[in-house]
Amino acid sequence: MALNTGDRRDIGISFEFFPPKSEEMEGQLWKTVAELQDWDPDFVSVTYGAGGTTKAPTLTAVTRFLNETPLATASHLTCVGATKEETHQVIDHFRKAGVKHFVALRGDAPGGAGVPYQPHPGGYANAAELVAGLREIGDFEISVSAYPEKHPESRDVAADIDMLKRKADSGADRALTQFFFDNDNFERYLEKVRAAGVKIPIVPGIMPIQNLTQLKRFASACGTVIPAFLDERFAGLDDKVEERAKVSVDVAVEQIEDLVRRGLDEFHLYTMNRSPLVSAVLTNLGLRREGAKRAAGAAA
Ligand SMILES: Cc1cc2nc3c(=O)[nH]c(=O)nc-3n(C[C@H](O)[C@H](O)[C@H](O)COP(=O)(O)OP(=O)(O)OC[C@H]3O[C@@H](n4cnc5c(N)ncnc54)[C@H](O)[C@@H]3O)c2cc1C
Repeated sequence: MALNTGDRRDIGISFEFFPPKSEEMEGQLWKTVAELQDWDPDFVSVTYGAGGTTKAPTLTAVTRFLNETPLATASHLTCVGATKEETHQVIDHFRKAGVKHFVALRGDAPGGAGVPYQPHPGGYANAAELVAGLREIGDFEISVSAYPEKHPESRDVAADIDMLKRKADSGADRALTQFFFDNDNFERYLEKVRAAGVKIPIVPGIMPIQNLTQLKRFASACGTVIPAFLDERFAGLDDKVEERAKVSVDVAVEQIEDLVRRGLDEFHLYTMNRSPLVSAVLTNLGLRREGAKRAAGAAA
């Protein structure tokens, strides 16, 4: 595997979006989708709000992806705060909308990340149970989460890998990781995952950094370590938007190139519903847009 042919298919890519919460954000999302579509991602996914609070926005966005774009679209789904019957109703709504791929998650406790999780009596207690439930309901493609730096609630990495194994054994097709910046740690994690007998693809989650200060707040809630080298790379760039964007792109490109050298060939990009950094990362990896390639072919 090498990134030297310029072919978009040199690596697998998927894009993650979140459902818009306002008209302005809605415009932003669909502008971004129009701009990123030509990269011909293997699939895109749309997140699902905590506690089931945003089923409707997720369903609306996913339906539009399925009806108005050529993109294979996965819906995230959480089972927090719901009985199994309620979760099945939600699955049914998405299935009727045409969803064939779920990113199956437990979700955070209603008080937010950090508040002890209480499974709903009569509900799925964790994502492994949800995967098993989905497998009984239909022939879905199923992705799950993975945490190279461990989930904040996990006792230790071993407990985390144990849950990942349960999800894989229940029928998950792949795991998408929480975003991370420490590739050495990721490689050690992957070795442990494989030693535990987990064979499904573990797809690194890559976060092009829009704003390091904001990202730090978010990262501390989800357990991602922000290495000191990022402070150094972004030092003095708070008011220099273009230079900051260039550093963000360089950091993500270097991370992906390094992971490719370590044998990884699929990447899940957190878009934050914005296209410029994501497109610049893919361009600087030397990849060509499928749409651009098609257009060049047509002109030849
Ligand atoms: C790729 C990705 C996409 C995501 N998308 C969404 C989304 O769309 N909507 C959303 O709300 N959230 C989303 N999340 C966040 C996720 O819901 C939270 O991290 C949640 O706290 C755990 O859900 P999970 O499916 O990862 O849990 P699980 O896989 O069930 O568990 C995660 C880890 O937590 C530990 N754990 C689980 N339950 C307990 C417990 N009761 N006590 C102690 N340890 C426990 C286990 O060791 C396990 O390794 C996403 C996360 C990732 C990585």
